[in-house]
Amino acid sequence: MGKIKVLDEQLANQIAAGEVVERPASVVKELIENAVDAGSTTIDISIEEGGLTLIKVIDNGYGIEASDIVTAFQRHATSKISTSSDLFRIASLGFRGEALPSIAAVSRLQCMSSDTATGLARRIVIEGGKVTIDEPANAPQGTEMTVRDLFYNTPARLKYMKAIQTELGHISDYVNRIALAHPGIAITFKHNGNVLLRTLGSGDRLQVIAAVYGSNTAKVMLPVEAETSDYELRGFISKPELTRANRNGITAIVNGRYIRSHTINQALLQAYHTLLPINRYPLVILELGMHPSLLDVNVHPSKMEVRFSKEPELRIMIEDAIKAVLRGQRHIPGPESIT
Ligand code: ADP
Ligand code: MG
Repeated sequence: MGKIKVLDEQLANQIAAGEVVERPASVVKELIENAVDAGSTTIDISIEEGGLTLIKVIDNGYGIEASDIVTAFQRHATSKISTSSDLFRIASLGFRGEALPSIAAVSRLQCMSSDTATGLARRIVIEGGKVTIDEPANAPQGTEMTVRDLFYNTPARLKYMKAIQTELGHISDYVNRIALAHPGIAITFKHNGNVLLRTLGSGDRLQVIAAVYGSNTAKVMLPVEAETSDYELRGFISKPELTRANRNGITAIVNGRYIRSHTINQALLQAYHTLLPINRYPLVILELGMHPSLLDVNVHPSKMEVRFSKEPELRIMIEDAIKAVLRGQRHIPGPESIT
């Protein structure tokens, strides 16, 4: 007999978790993404000790059918894609079917869900990847995920965790971005019982900007909008006098997903160009909409990076749209003033 064997599922999940679950913020991100994908209009997130002892996400989305709940925690199990062509038109935030099994492999997790179709609720408890409880439950419509003792069975990873404030900072950052991306969802975020963010879900992005950055900042943001046959752009940009010391004030959202994009950053910084003091950056929230086939999100397990198929067009649209707004503010000399 040869020496090569296929790893058992539990071990495979633990290995995948190394990639998908880098730190508590990764868990928060994946659970919120699932809540958004489920069409939720409210999402409550509460964490304790920077997410290391507890992460709880409650949504009012369409839920997981009782008969699906164990399957949802299997590797590569997803309701979001089913064929390879789906991979080239991803309309949901998730699609890899890796988050739940990965999180469950490195924590003590409880999932309670009641789906809209049957109205039946079920609860399962999984410890280190092993299902220990699987029973009917009483629960309101939606899903409640409770993740305790993250990395309790992977001491090497646990040791690598930073101070609670650092982990909280990463989580807070992601929650703020997803709130900016989805002003139509009422989001509450608590750490050790203290409310750190509350949005109303009214659809008004300025309200979210006020909740995240303060109402004085929200008051001086300028709306930006543009459209080409392929792309739609909306958002808010800061006047050049409101600057920050780093790029963290830039939030790029593509088809509902918060992403990091060098292309987008470059285009918008190019638009501000000489209006910003050296090493100062604007506060910008840009939401791009496009046909999913123009976007490749299958670049990295964290799904934070994407590839655009018509990058030059996108770059020009962003740069021109922002320049037009700033010109309206008379910061850039318009063509009429060039002699
Ligand atoms: P993915 O999001 O890539 O499909 P996950 O492992 O994150 O994979 O979730 C597996 C499946 O479990 C999802 O496809 C979805 O059907 C279901 N699911 C997970 N979380 C929720 C939720 N909050 N509400 C409804 N369904 C959920
Ligand atoms: Mg997911």
